Amino acid sequence: MKLFTAVLATETNTFSPICIDKRAFEASLYARPGEHPVTPTLCSAPLTVGRRVCAEKGWTLVEGSAAWADPAGLINRQTYEGLRDEILDQLRAAMPVDGVILGLHGAMVADGYLDPEGDFLSRIRDIVGPDILICTELDPHSHLTAKRVEAADFFVAFKEFPHTDFVDRAEDLWRIAVDVLEGRVKPVMSVFDCRMIDVFPTSREPMRSFVDKLQRIEAEDDDVLSLSVIHGFMAGDVPEMGTKLIAVTNGKAEKGAQLARSLGLELFANRGRHMMPQLTVDEAVSRAMSVETGPVVIADMWDNPGGGTAGDATVLLAELLARKAEGVAVGTIWDPVAVQICMAAGEGAEIPLRFGAKSAPGTGNPIDGRVTVVKLVRNAEMRFGESFAPFGDAAHIRLDGTDIILNSVRAQSFDPSLFSVMGIDPTTKKILVIKSTNHFHASFSRIASEILYCSAGTPYPNSPAHNPYRLVRRDIWPMMENPHGTEAA
Ligand SMILES: [Zn+2]
Repeated sequence: MKLFTAVLATETNTFSPICIDKRAFEASLYARPGEHPVTPTLCSAPLTVGRRVCAEKGWTLVEGSAAWADPAGLINRQTYEGLRDEILDQLRAAMPVDGVILGLHGAMVADGYLDPEGDFLSRIRDIVGPDILICTELDPHSHLTAKRVEAADFFVAFKEFPHTDFVDRAEDLWRIAVDVLEGRVKPVMSVFDCRMIDVFPTSREPMRSFVDKLQRIEAEDDDVLSLSVIHGFMAGDVPEMGTKLIAVTNGKAEKGAQLARSLGLELFANRGRHMMPQLTVDEAVSRAMSVETGPVVIADMWDNPGGGTAGDATVLLAELLARKAEGVAVGTIWDPVAVQICMAAGEGAEIPLRFGAKSAPGTGNPIDGRVTVVKLVRNAEMRFGESFAPFGDAAHIRLDGTDIILNSVRAQSFDPSLFSVMGIDPTTKKILVIKSTNHFHASFSRIASEILYCSAGTPYPNSPAHNPYRLVRRDIWPMMENPHGTEAA
């Protein structure tokens, strides 16, 4: 057996001002064939798991390039076409192959391409022909277009959000692929369009029980090879944006369609109940200031660079400064220019500085003040599970007693170590302001006396009924009340 694998992934927030080119992939992950490290990043587990599976089987795994850029705005056209053609050329050179097993994210948008993954997968289908297996792992925050479903044999998406299971799902992908290649199963993919868009954290109900139920069905029903929820990605203004349910069965198209439909309608029945409750800026700051023992963590949940924003909003900080809140640390505010100025001034300097809120409307106003440069760190990193996440050259500044970390590489606030590496002990603070929607929860919940989710400003298009979409279809909830009519609860 000879299999081909490659990775091409990022998540495009089409509202984000942070457009990207090849450099963004090189900064996050760009590995030529054979150069991919042993540990996977979010979307490259099919490659690392594939190495192990093929070694055990004595099969040949031909590695194509692996490219991942952190979530941001539109991808430069030449960059997308260049990476795509590089991988397609590698596949052509590897032909004939028995299967193509990919790591995609599924929410890319490139200049001139509303469905890059559909384009990529159908070109792969053209190369390998109709009978060769094509399967892909996906991030659930993606767009399941008809073109992709047409081109691929099956998809497996991460089930957990936060995405703690990307390696487990790559194991599922390969286990099914091996069963297909050895003739034990014939995968048929059934898709149900839930005609909705929502946010589905699995760290809380009702999604926790729903995911447990999917795994129970997979374990108990021999006809069912895999069940996935495509959550959809509301910051991607593309025609087929929305939530979908995928059932992959062993040749049971009708049963798969029924299962996808009943599970999809169950999700739809819980529409609007999946999200964590959100506080306004005033509510979050009042609550945080009233708590006796800290640290209270305020998640600036929509200014999350992990969702493609700049991460430079100042709305919460401005409110905390105005109300003279004490014991506050903010990590982080993205401002490479301000970091450069602090680096030039040096540790201990007191300087006039303008920082933050330069990227986009809805992020507040730049903050002006005389700040003390407390600590400077080149190429700063925070912990992220077993590995590290870089946040670039960084400056810890103090303004009116408030500690603020300015960073130069956009990064979600994954872990409290982002404070400690900048000389701030987060456990001694009363209030920690961080930039993350949900990934922070696992690590910050260990030190937080309380966690508040705050919706501050509009750095991210978080209200689908009101977002200024140009291309997204309008016949889904919450743009319309009940697109399923009487058949849904
Ligand atoms: Zn995701």
